[in-house]
Amino acid sequence: MADSHRNAFENAQRQFDLAAEKLNLDHSLRRVLRVPQRELSVNFPVKMDNGEIQVFSGYRVQHNVSRGPAKGGIRYHHAVDIDEVRALAMWMTWKCALVNIPYGGAKGGVIVDPTKLSQSELERLTRRFATEISILVGAEKDIPAPDVGTNGQVMAWFMDTISMHRGYTVPAVITGKPVEVGGSLGRVEATGRGVSIVAREAAKHLGLRIEGATVVIQGFGNVGSVTADMMQRMGSKVIAVSDVSGGYYNRRGLNIPEMIAYTKQHRSLEGYQAEGIERVSNSELLEIECDILAPCALENQITEENAGRIRCKLLVEGANGPTTPEADDILFEKGIFVVPDILANAGGVTVSYFEWVQGLQEFFWTEEEINNKLERIMQHSFESVLAQTLKHKVSMRMGGYMVAVARVAEATQIRGIYP
Ligand code: NAD
Repeated sequence: MADSHRNAFENAQRQFDLAAEKLNLDHSLRRVLRVPQRELSVNFPVKMDNGEIQVFSGYRVQHNVSRGPAKGGIRYHHAVDIDEVRALAMWMTWKCALVNIPYGGAKGGVIVDPTKLSQSELERLTRRFATEISILVGAEKDIPAPDVGTNGQVMAWFMDTISMHRGYTVPAVITGKPVEVGGSLGRVEATGRGVSIVAREAAKHLGLRIEGATVVIQGFGNVGSVTADMMQRMGSKVIAVSDVSGGYYNRRGLNIPEMIAYTKQHRSLEGYQAEGIERVSNSELLEIECDILAPCALENQITEENAGRIRCKLLVEGANGPTTPEADDILFEKGIFVVPDILANAGGVTVSYFEWVQGLQEFFWTEEEINNKLERIMQHSFESVLAQTLKHKVSMRMGGYMVAVARVAEATQIRGIYP
């Protein structure tokens, strides 16, 4: 993926600046909110299976904790860098505020291609990284979660490591854990479920029938594959998906359950074949004519270079930061309705919040309760962003930022500047 982390933090700051201007935010507050509060950078050794020691680098960044403990995923990817983690942490602050859950924003990352590690190397890397950043994390101060390249098993090792240090089990130190060790029902599907809920709401607003709508999805990991599955269950037709191995396109619709089963077995879609499938590149995939396009992979996929060629009616950002601010302007002029990342993919952190609450109170809810609560929060958040958008005649991104930034600014102001 070309330039997947190019200027991510600059983009995040630019989005913030535009919203701050629109909100006429006090300049002192702008200075506070446009930079992360705390950044930890670590280099740590891991013993590889062949006996060699390799040194890995990672980060944990907390952007703002005015509204509660820091919350945000951990990414394992070869292109992670500090600016990407800063951007992702800042987006987490706005996302948590937008869905009105009591968290600040954080993010972590390790520069590593996890597919190149054995399970035991991955476990040692995770346990050592957890130890390195343990000075920041804790159920009451900073709660990580899965992101690109990490999953429930990685969360379980992380939780176990912190628990070993403390001498007792602390499930609420991390979310996205397997259900067997204090995870929440519905968490694995939560982000994709949220993406499809807002896609449905946006389609309703646009007068677009969700049944039979054609859908294109970039990225077929946790978010992309669940979104594909849920959209198909709603009656939409998923005509193209892609992952790191490229794109798979069939105008008549893809067999999503079969593709999900294939990735479970082979870790990616590499080598997947079925009748009528045409192979396309990831950039060609984004330009396929469709009703709904959902980028669910990495940042900076829709830029000023290709935005003019995007041919969807509705763009729902499952990924964080897939659209640059320049591309946003082009899409807005073209009349493409964009549901921004801080709203579209907030289902994940919402159910992470439910998992944290359940862990702290040691009382667990049914899947139905969780899905109903998620549905209500996503629907309500969509409505408040849409109302702001229509009132100020701005894009949905600006509408979302106006809701979120105003909440964080207010909390920061009410608490006051220490000392
Ligand atoms: P994942 O690791 O499960 O999946 C990532 C997918 O992207 C994989 O299918 C991978 O092959 C694909 N990919 C990687 N490089 C690609 C490329 N060059 N072109 C096309 N596809 C490529 O990660 P995920 O958890 O699904 O996260 C995806 C996005 O959603 C990220 O932006 C993440 O920050 C965001 N997100 C995730 C969650 C969550 O709960 N997991 C929550 C909110 C937002």
